[in-house]
Amino acid sequence: MDQLSRYLETTPPALRSKAAIAMLASFDYLLETHPSIATTIVRELQDQRRFLKMIASENYCSLAVQLAMGNWMTDKYAEGSVHHRFYAGCDQVDAIEEEACHHLKELFHAEHVYVQPHSGADANLIAYWAILTTRIQSRELERLSKKSVDELTTEEFESLRQLLVNQKLMGLAMSSGGHLTHGYRHNISSKLFKAIFYEVDPQTGLLNYDQIWKKAKAEKPLILLAGYSAYPRKINFATMRQIAEDVGATLMVDMAHFAGLVAGGVFTGEFNPIAYADIVTSTTHKTLRGPRGGIILCKQEFSEAVNKGCPLVQGGPLPHVMAAKAIAFEEARQPSFQTYAHRIVENAQALAQELIRLGCTVLTGGTDNHMVLVNVSSLGLTGKQAEHALRQGMITANRNTIPFDPNGPWYTSGLRLGTPALTTLGMGPDEMRVIAGCVVDCLRNTVPVTTVSGTISRSQCLVQSATVSAVQAKVAELLHRHPLYPEIEIKE
Ligand SMILES: *Cc1c(COP(=O)(O)O)cnc(C)c1O
Repeated sequence: MDQLSRYLETTPPALRSKAAIAMLASFDYLLETHPSIATTIVRELQDQRRFLKMIASENYCSLAVQLAMGNWMTDKYAEGSVHHRFYAGCDQVDAIEEEACHHLKELFHAEHVYVQPHSGADANLIAYWAILTTRIQSRELERLSKKSVDELTTEEFESLRQLLVNQKLMGLAMSSGGHLTHGYRHNISSKLFKAIFYEVDPQTGLLNYDQIWKKAKAEKPLILLAGYSAYPRKINFATMRQIAEDVGATLMVDMAHFAGLVAGGVFTGEFNPIAYADIVTSTTHKTLRGPRGGIILCKQEFSEAVNKGCPLVQGGPLPHVMAAKAIAFEEARQPSFQTYAHRIVENAQALAQELIRLGCTVLTGGTDNHMVLVNVSSLGLTGKQAEHALRQGMITANRNTIPFDPNGPWYTSGLRLGTPALTTLGMGPDEMRVIAGCVVDCLRNTVPVTTVSGTISRSQCLVQSATVSAVQAKVAELLHRHPLYPEIEIKE
């Protein structure tokens, strides 16, 4: 067959929506110009279609979002901010960034927004520096009666630098579900700040606000940071605000994981961070279901410093990704996104309940958000083995440390299961119960793997073949009924 039309022409005419034609034609073109790249991209789609995506931080964004990213907007430099650029010819980037900001502001009712961060990690770095600049550097400049750091002598600049790097950041320990950008030793955040951590309660697995308060009082951090990558409950931001005010800290919230639940009206009142936090960061590609990237929302006080994300941390923004962000934010403002967000949590709760009914140890006894954390050690497995076992049943999930994990961060004792992607496919609580059964079947019916050195592998285990066949058939059936991008049909 003519390679040029391999993907498009093999798609039945009835399925050829405009989006499908655009996507398939682009693969056909790439197949001709760069066959190995085209084939790999298409294979990634096949992989994502064959496995149940239960990684809590992943999702599937719309074809509109995908298409907005793949074009010449990427060719433009636009350092600076809207209508204040260091490059000529930024009219369309201004228009795109303005539109993305507009939708984001409306979506979260934020005072100020910034859509340039390339990732969640970059958003956090910019936010950290914005707080340091606003609260430490500007006061120091005022004290020295200087307008800018450019006016400082070498000695004054050095003493300012010492002052800046000796501030305290207090966040959730990574072992309790915090993110590595929240002060983990191997992340720059622990070099930028003296990092102090609060942990979840060893008995309940929940945040203990009295303990956080006590620690904050003793440490007096510059920044009190709330947010998580592996915590299955809501955070009371009104209480966190009280604590921050009491100790004179700036309250920063990293809602990378649960931004979609805030946008979709699941986390409201005291559980919506926007009104309580001085500065909020997020990714755009997790529950928010946009392109891979980051955002910052803040009070007016921090807006000037936040807008200097470039040159502070980043170089030029990614205009093609800002275009895709604008589309995703507009999508999230639709009523259907509210339904989607509520459904994510309903699904996670159904999944947790069924796992518990089947005898699993679910941390904190359930979930309020999009993720379920399972302690797999009672099944005689490490988290790494559980991850390996599920993959054999065509389920992709990731291992995770559990609080006070005896197996450390590599092998771990936990499994993190998320529902955002499956909910995007249209699955509901009935499907979640079937999936819980599949998960438990895989984890219960394993045989150990012996390594070359004769020891039992702590990384791998084999699921018995009868279980593998049964689970694979169930997964295939679920995915057949809930296909990813149904309008794109690709023949191998
Ligand atoms: C995922 C995540 C990030 C980092 O996002 P990247 O886009 O991968 O840099 C930051 N903070 C939290 C809490 C996260 O879960």
